[in-house]
Amino acid sequence: MKKTGLRVRKFGDLVLRKKSVPVKKITPEHGEFLSKMAQLMYEDEGVGLAAPQAGLNQAMIVVDIGKGLYKLINPKITKQQGAQVNKEGCLSVPGVCINVRRAKRIKLEALDESGQPLNIEAEGLLACVFQHEIDHLRGKLIVDYASLLEKIKFAKILKELKKHAKDEKLPESKTESCSLQL
Ligand code: ZN
Repeated sequence: MKKTGLRVRKFGDLVLRKKSVPVKKITPEHGEFLSKMAQLMYEDEGVGLAAPQAGLNQAMIVVDIGKGLYKLINPKITKQQGAQVNKEGCLSVPGVCINVRRAKRIKLEALDESGQPLNIEAEGLLACVFQHEIDHLRGKLIVDYASLLEKIKFAKILKELKKHAKDEKLPESKTESCSLQL
């Protein structure tokens, strides 16, 4: 267990597959949870984390690609443009790297922890990370984008992860490390 009292939930944990509910009334607890999520993300050297990965099915994400921390509540993509493909890893699916095609530029709306509306424009890597985290809020994971070859390649790792989903410590089975951990 980490200092935050939270741990990153792993593939096979049902919390990752449930749809997150929008936050109706923002309280100081939401702000505290977002701070803990950020801490968890930094501890695990990720650049993004969604609340379900910390065990809570509420629509909140944190993102930091090295250009400042975003803590967003109820994020929603309002515009998408272009396309990009990146090799994405996920803190919840360690050892797995999947080529994911996403929009290159996005606009999104969200609330900050004090309930103020935010309008964000992002492109490239930042846009990719936002889309990955918002996928988590819908119960969607990188493995859902896997090609047949990728499915075959990672089948063994995914089976192991599923078997140990409830364990605090997972067996080391990293065959490939992905530079992008979200
Ligand atoms: Zn992820």
